[in-house]
Amino acid sequence: MIANRNYIKILDLIKDSINLDKHSLPIQLHEPDFNQTNSLSYLSDCIETGWVSSAGKWVNEFENKLCEFTGARYAIAVVNGTAALRLALHLVGVRAGDEVILPPMSFVATANAISHLGAVPHFVDIENESLGLCPLEVKERLDSIALKVNNHVINRETGRKISAILPVHIFGTPSKILELLNISEEWNIPLVEDAAEALGSFKYDNKKLIHCGLFGKLGILSFNGNKILTTGGGGALITNDQKIAKLARHLSTTAKKNHKWDFYHDYVGWNDRLPNINAALGVAQIEDLASRIEKKRNLHKKYSEKFELFNELEILKPSDDCISNYWLITLRLNLSKAILEEYRIGLLELAHESGILLRPVWRLLNELPMYQNSPKGQLKVAEDMSKRLINLPSSPQLL
Ligand SMILES: *Cc1c(COP(=O)(O)O)cnc(C)c1O
Repeated sequence: MIANRNYIKILDLIKDSINLDKHSLPIQLHEPDFNQTNSLSYLSDCIETGWVSSAGKWVNEFENKLCEFTGARYAIAVVNGTAALRLALHLVGVRAGDEVILPPMSFVATANAISHLGAVPHFVDIENESLGLCPLEVKERLDSIALKVNNHVINRETGRKISAILPVHIFGTPSKILELLNISEEWNIPLVEDAAEALGSFKYDNKKLIHCGLFGKLGILSFNGNKILTTGGGGALITNDQKIAKLARHLSTTAKKNHKWDFYHDYVGWNDRLPNINAALGVAQIEDLASRIEKKRNLHKKYSEKFELFNELEILKPSDDCISNYWLITLRLNLSKAILEEYRIGLLELAHESGILLRPVWRLLNELPMYQNSPKGQLKVAEDMSKRLINLPSSPQLL
């Protein structure tokens, strides 16, 4: 009963935080917004010139703007984040039969990209500040199961090679990436960053701000419909490594050698380049991205102030050593285990009835049927957090 009155208070606070006069119910978690952008005129250009497919000036322009915004030396735009991940893992040497270390709390694409290469996800726990892969757990896991053999690392329990570490900057919050990078260097296992949700998120390395995705060998971004910038569907690889960038471009365009009329391909490539028409939307949005992030920061501030009322409910905030894009603003239920599940379900039910589409964090990947038998360490923090986290409507245009 007490819980029930709290739900109404929580939903009222959410409604107070967003400008309900401007929006009709239901309020979605994160929606695209093309107002006050040049989207229409850029799209018209594609249609008028006939350049709609996977070459054209908007693809180049979008990649240049991504470099400018993130500080990456190279950006390669592709059809979606999953394809970007698959290509990134392939480029650092992940092959069929290998294992890749990743956190269990992520969107399913992170594990799927590994499986698409015939490799096997290996789950290691998260830590409860950034909600990302826990460096201590990765270190302990490797110390207990891994063996250096010649130039690579073998999982003694499965006999498989561990060929990448894949942290995820979840909800736009940078993971403990410097510590993870140290482990990657110590073991000589390449680090690929799933920065799908983290366009506009940076972390300090000493005094220098570095964009998520640019700490390891390479990182990936997604421009799916609910991301902070959307091209309809889309993704990108970002890297400072010229050799990797060149190869990424080559393999994502069917590995065709550049020639006027000869079709010569030197590798089993993919057809993964982003069409010009999608890239045009990307350019229109990235021009407006800084102001969108500013609005999201203000929305986070507003929610944080409102929720100060509650002792047991906490709006998560990024640590001082990073800048977040606040992609999804997250509420943590700091309640006792005895009442947690009933409270969580009750709140979600009432919210959905009221048209405020709160969303719990994804089911843990190791609980999905296709990943149930994947190798894993203990996953205590992820198991606990997955019951406590609820994402609030986070579209910048809500403000
Ligand atoms: C969105 C997302 C992806 C996949 O991107 P798509 O563009 O949807 O293929 C990968 N990882 C994470 C963490 C994501 O949120």
